[in-house]
Amino acid sequence: MNARMKETGLIDNIKNIYRRISHAAMRVERNPEDVKLIAVTKNVNINIIKEAIDWGLRIFGESRVQEAKEKIEELSRFVHDVLNYTQISWHLIGHLQKNKAKTAVQLFDLIHSIDSLELARELNRHAEKNGKVQRVLIQVKLSEEETKYGIQKEGLMNLIMAVSEMKNLRIEGLMTIPPFFDNPEMARPYFIELRELRDKINSLSIMHYALQELSMGMTHDFEVAIEEGATMVRIGTGIFGER
Ligand SMILES: *Cc1c(COP(=O)(O)O)cnc(C)c1O
Repeated sequence: MNARMKETGLIDNIKNIYRRISHAAMRVERNPEDVKLIAVTKNVNINIIKEAIDWGLRIFGESRVQEAKEKIEELSRFVHDVLNYTQISWHLIGHLQKNKAKTAVQLFDLIHSIDSLELARELNRHAEKNGKVQRVLIQVKLSEEETKYGIQKEGLMNLIMAVSEMKNLRIEGLMTIPPFFDNPEMARPYFIELRELRDKINSLSIMHYALQELSMGMTHDFEVAIEEGATMVRIGTGIFGER
């Protein structure tokens, strides 16, 4: 990260990100309000998260269930004191193991990382027990990298059809993580591809409602993602600095 970010405070980073979101949206004649900022708080200290809440951030993304659980519990009293807790939304953006499905359903408003039928079934089962309709995104793997999670394109339609039959899950859209490129322009084809997949699913009417969300774009490439239709950008470093 550049030296400037370390010297400026959290509020400057947040303002800067919002400004860049607006500019990217306006370049392609989108409404900036159609892009939700998910502040990624993995490895971020609880006091910094409180400060971020004070500065108006409301949606937080965590990669790991256990880390999220500790923070959410610790923050719940603080949040209750300063504002209505329901205003804060927690998203799971990292890979989810089946054995954490139960806890995930208890903690998260939106789970970005559904990538298998087995995981979806497990989530649906726990959501039903909790009397909850769990909002989810399907994570799509668009690159050949071995390390990335996500369902391959070939299996996507079948997974969507199966999950859309599950009473206690509601698919809201798609998520992807392109490979890291020094030049964010190189990520553009992946963002285009995710948008086209969503539009194809909607045009085939394989579900009885349309998918809205595209969760794509991180600190180094979110402007390109917004130009290609991102409705949720997941930003950690750009807000909280290097951790
Ligand atoms: C960590 C993480 C982010 C945020 O990355 P930054 O480069 O810090 O903005 C976004 N999405 C996922 C899935 C992550 O794990």
